[in-house]
Amino acid sequence: MEGKKAVVVGHEVPPERLLADLERYRQEAIRLGMTDAKVIATDQVVVDERVRGKCRIPLCVEYGVSANCPPHSPTPAETRALVGRYQYAIFMKREVKADGMAGPDVAKNLMQGKFDPERTQRMRAVLEIPAQVESMAFYDGYYLALAYGGACKIMYCAGVECQAIQPGQHCRFPYRSRPSMESAGMDVFRMCAQVGWEVYQIGSQTDPASVPCGLLAGLVLIQ
Ligand code: SF4
Repeated sequence: MEGKKAVVVGHEVPPERLLADLERYRQEAIRLGMTDAKVIATDQVVVDERVRGKCRIPLCVEYGVSANCPPHSPTPAETRALVGRYQYAIFMKREVKADGMAGPDVAKNLMQGKFDPERTQRMRAVLEIPAQVESMAFYDGYYLALAYGGACKIMYCAGVECQAIQPGQHCRFPYRSRPSMESAGMDVFRMCAQVGWEVYQIGSQTDPASVPCGLLAGLVLIQ
């Protein structure tokens, strides 16, 4: 495989080039499989301690079992400080069938650690596409590009322990796993509403037939 051409980095990026690159990354996210993507200013990234509180109360099955979930993932305070250092991000969504996300069977299977392989496959896109866009931006010279995706434990390491939280060990999939937006304290629902995307509250008691579609979201901080 031909390697990527190295670029000189560290200089100010002219605004017109930055805007053109952001649009390119937005389009790339859609080409790779996202339903839609938007270029947003980072003041539209909503960080709220209550989101992270929902990881703990009631305790999520992912809590404490992965390096990319609380308490290991960045805290809301860290996320706020980090996001505040960036100007622009690509916010992306993938619409999915709601039947794999709502209803009592979904909750029961989650509690028992059983994951529907088809659903897992669909959800992987929301980890892999932001990581791919991050990589594209990185090799273009945006060396601080940073992606957030979905819950990596379910998608890559179901049934085995997270290696990254073992002393002296490292992540099995460092180029594909990223913290989910929620695990870092981002209010994805609020952000979707801000950009005009409809998002539905889905729980174990929700009738899947009442949900037009489920939504998975990712974010890449660019510059
Ligand atoms: S991909 Fe696996 S090893 Fe890496 S952080 Fe996630 S759970 Fe841990």
